[in-house]
Amino acid sequence: MPEDSKTDLIRDIRILLNYHKSMGIDSYPRTKGLERFLKKKKQPAAPSPSARKYTSPKQVKPVAQTREKHVFDPGLAKKATLADVRQELGDCTRCGLHKSRTNIVFGQGDEKAKLLIIGPAPGAEDDRGASPFLGAGGDLLTKMLAAIGLSREDVYLTSLVKCLPAGGRPPREEEVRTCLPFLFRQLEIICPRVICAMGKQPAQTLLHSKESLFRLRGRFYDFNSFCSTELAEQMLIIPTLHPTFLLDNEEMKKASWQDLQMIQKKI
Ligand code: SF4
Repeated sequence: MPEDSKTDLIRDIRILLNYHKSMGIDSYPRTKGLERFLKKKKQPAAPSPSARKYTSPKQVKPVAQTREKHVFDPGLAKKATLADVRQELGDCTRCGLHKSRTNIVFGQGDEKAKLLIIGPAPGAEDDRGASPFLGAGGDLLTKMLAAIGLSREDVYLTSLVKCLPAGGRPPREEEVRTCLPFLFRQLEIICPRVICAMGKQPAQTLLHSKESLFRLRGRFYDFNSFCSTELAEQMLIIPTLHPTFLLDNEEMKKASWQDLQMIQKKI
């Protein structure tokens, strides 16, 4: 291979690895393709002491909790509806994200859904359309749901924060903390069997963890461990990859499909 092409290839690999790192993926399964690639190298570099081996999801250690548990109100589902919560949210200016939004994207779907899907924040198209999971990523999610026999109307779609962060950046911790009580009220009312946290930020926030998404995904966690009262005992949470990430990383679709099949069996 010419030197210029090698330099371009190395640059592209570095960009891809940095992108994966930003999505919480810092280790990879040892697939046959990877084995072949590694065997081609004459002098493999010595593994860095800090390099982590791929860990099967089943081997994930219990998640260390770093925040206080959310106290559920078991009676809220009987007293209030999602419309009440939306009314309480109002024309919210509780955090700085109100400055960058056009519309509040509260959530959409079945108030009694067995599956509740949470993304990090509305994207630009969600903001314009006032609905979650629009655009190419949303189209892929619709197809993923159809593959397990569900439509968008069968589930409930929402996000950690309800307003578009400027420039599509991830929401900041204080913004998530300010908006999170409204997500928990949605959870209290819908009381889904399964919560699917799509992407690194929803997974780490709801599991109170700093582990990478790749280590967290692929298994159910008892949501009761992360909040309190009997209402939460009915809920399981599973982290998985965000559809927008899958659009650029086709090789990760297999892992995502495995997670979806686990959800399908559970609900
Ligand atoms: Fe209010 Fe949530 Fe929007 Fe912040 S993100 S302004 S808390 S609705």
